[in-house]
Amino acid sequence: MIELSNWGEMFLNKDLIEIMKYAYEHHVSLFADNGVNLNNVTKEVLRALVRYKFKRIKCSIDGASQETYSIYRVNGNFQQVIENIKTLNAFKTEYKSRYPLLKWQFIAFGHNEHEITQARKLAKELGMTFYLKLSWEDLYTESFSPVKDTDLIKKETGLSVANRIEFKEKFGEDYAKCCVGLWTDPQINYDGRVLGCSVNYWDDYGNAFKDGLKKCMNNEKINYAREMLMGRRQSKKDIPCTQCKIYTKMEENKTWLKGKDIREGVARNRVSILIDKSVLGFPLTDRLVRLALAMRRRLRRRYFIESVKRLFPKDLHE
Ligand code: SF4
Repeated sequence: MIELSNWGEMFLNKDLIEIMKYAYEHHVSLFADNGVNLNNVTKEVLRALVRYKFKRIKCSIDGASQETYSIYRVNGNFQQVIENIKTLNAFKTEYKSRYPLLKWQFIAFGHNEHEITQARKLAKELGMTFYLKLSWEDLYTESFSPVKDTDLIKKETGLSVANRIEFKEKFGEDYAKCCVGLWTDPQINYDGRVLGCSVNYWDDYGNAFKDGLKKCMNNEKINYAREMLMGRRQSKKDIPCTQCKIYTKMEENKTWLKGKDIREGVARNRVSILIDKSVLGFPLTDRLVRLALAMRRRLRRRYFIESVKRLFPKDLHE
């Protein structure tokens, strides 16, 4: 499983069609869960996304109108993005494919919160799931356009929280567990620099193209960073995490990563990806599988009730 998006727009890569074709032929699932802005993409690339069963795309659309959208996505063209999604959907119909699954990511800000309902509705019309994301606030610089109507955000996120601090207080963990990337899905920059997580861009753990990915994933520097994140070593100047606000907060609150956080990010094997692409990728088979699973759940429930009844006969209750 490979995530293609990080610091930069993956649709600017001229080799993208070849990359998707290669991944498809080698049963590798591709994702763009870090987000794409979908402003500049050709019809050929949109067709290839469907043809080569690109698994999932998160579209970063923080508004439901050009005016609002372009405040954060500077120079972005809202209508163009919507048109590209429609073209993609037309290809999905033509190829009878569910993939790529599309998610509308809307980062909640003060300047766009009034358009959440409208965006949610539009996402539904476009066959996309909707995800209201809490902003990073002051992670890189100072907070940009903080939310104003906190009650609305609490309701719309469905989490009863309006920012990441409240999330941590309520659930006792970070809103996004980016640090786990150092173990499970290391980010590699376009030039081969192993960045480790999706937050870091200022330093690296070697170069995957020059040194080899395996070496970069097991060198002294990355192992030290992992130990730091688990609270087993002191921070050190030459480790990227030392400059990161996420690490500073972890250090302050002594909320280190635990083994269970790391185990959650286990990848799927190629056989299941092959089945996914060749069988479950079609809307009809997907529906049949869901139906079979629902029936199995119902049968299990019935079996469970029957077993309870046998164990505790009615007269015993009475
Ligand atoms: S502390 Fe920051 S830089 Fe280090 S792994 Fe976590 S998010 Fe990345």
